Amino acid sequence: MIKIYNSLSNQKEEFKPIIENEVKMYACGPTVYNYFHIGNARPIIVFDVLRRYFEYRGYKVTFVQNFTDIDDKMINRANEEGITVKELADKFIAEYFKDAQGLGVRGATIHPKATENIDVIIDTVDKLIENGHAYAVGGNVYFRTKSFPEYGKLSHQPLEDLEAGARIDVNEDKEDAMDFVLWKAKKPGEPSWPSPWGEGRPGWHIECSAMVNKFLGETIDIHCGGKDLIFPHHENEIAQSECANCKPFAHYWMHNGYINVDNRKMSKSLNNFFTVRDVVKDFSYEVIRFFMLSAHYRSPINFSRDLLEQAETGLKRIKTCLENLEFLMNSYTDGEITAEESTLLENLKTHRSRFIEAMDDDLNTADGISAVFELVREMNSVFVNGKQYSKAFASKALELAKELLDVLGFSVAKEELLDEEIEKMIAERNDARKAKDFKRADEIRDTLKAKGIVLEDTPQGVKWRKAD
Ligand SMILES: [Zn+2]
Repeated sequence: MIKIYNSLSNQKEEFKPIIENEVKMYACGPTVYNYFHIGNARPIIVFDVLRRYFEYRGYKVTFVQNFTDIDDKMINRANEEGITVKELADKFIAEYFKDAQGLGVRGATIHPKATENIDVIIDTVDKLIENGHAYAVGGNVYFRTKSFPEYGKLSHQPLEDLEAGARIDVNEDKEDAMDFVLWKAKKPGEPSWPSPWGEGRPGWHIECSAMVNKFLGETIDIHCGGKDLIFPHHENEIAQSECANCKPFAHYWMHNGYINVDNRKMSKSLNNFFTVRDVVKDFSYEVIRFFMLSAHYRSPINFSRDLLEQAETGLKRIKTCLENLEFLMNSYTDGEITAEESTLLENLKTHRSRFIEAMDDDLNTADGISAVFELVREMNSVFVNGKQYSKAFASKALELAKELLDVLGFSVAKEELLDEEIEKMIAERNDARKAKDFKRADEIRDTLKAKGIVLEDTPQGVKWRKAD
């Protein structure tokens, strides 16, 4: 039984899908005006594991993660760079996929963009106006927050408390301080779309409501995102969707905890705001992933050099064990698994049970990783002692470890280049250099580097070695 902590009820609940053996999940994706930072990386990695885990447990998962490709930040950044908002979005969506792939994050089933769903957004706003939950004024459309008595149910704050902190800016024309914008009238120089209320663009919150509805339906199983999105973003999504559809929006809300940097809150003013692209200069993508999963997703996590180094050591210990076993296997015997081996294998499998128990319990990847470490420790004690085993047994043990690592998103199968392929590429690089095509030469060097091959130019020619 899979249990997840539901922010809506503030408790752990048994997961019961709407459709048996299926999961419809949505995660709020990044605003694509820059490389994504480690604060964004955490939900991206954690909810990738959630999806993988559901699949491992036999569910069919439809996972939607949007790209916010129009908002104030996008417009400001595009203006600074002298490019269009679309050019900015295209650039950083491509960069997103590079980092995500590096981090072992699979692409979502669908990655919709706000600007490609303006029609659905307009329909949703229209519906809300029709049923009295929204109103248009001066080309803007606002959500009438007090028309939704359940407002505040996710952040567990009564409307009166929220109201105390709300203000109307002098240039705003809304009825009530609690109301929030669904559609913004065009300002000079901004991208805009035609709408029944004049040229304009969507507010941020409405895009998620509209795209969830379009791609997953009126009610979904799980909505996830960072804890910082609970209020107002997710609260507003609930209000919009439940008022538009008169149905519950999401049965489970999952939120990951904050990231601190060297025990201080990550913030631009403290200048401790790292992009993933910065961090991979010193640590591999895999190490970042391992680090993020080494804590329970709801706990705060402290991002520091020391802890990344620890993650690096931990991951290496696991990989070394598997590499050793692969090496030892070559000298093992053919034939069937013996009775003694069968008992050993059953012992190893207890770690899989422990892994599942941990992951069933609100995706406890920290304990899941501990189970993998236990498995590795036991595999080392079984195999690294000079004893002879059958290849069949060794490969079962190896498969078991790989199975668990795969759920966490670590593929252990190394993409190994054959020596002659490496030599061929080096020869091609030499030719490129002779032809003064240094761009091509550098490309080849980088391709090899990405596959763990380091080149050294020596007076005697090019030497290569496998990186540690
Ligand atoms: Zn959202």
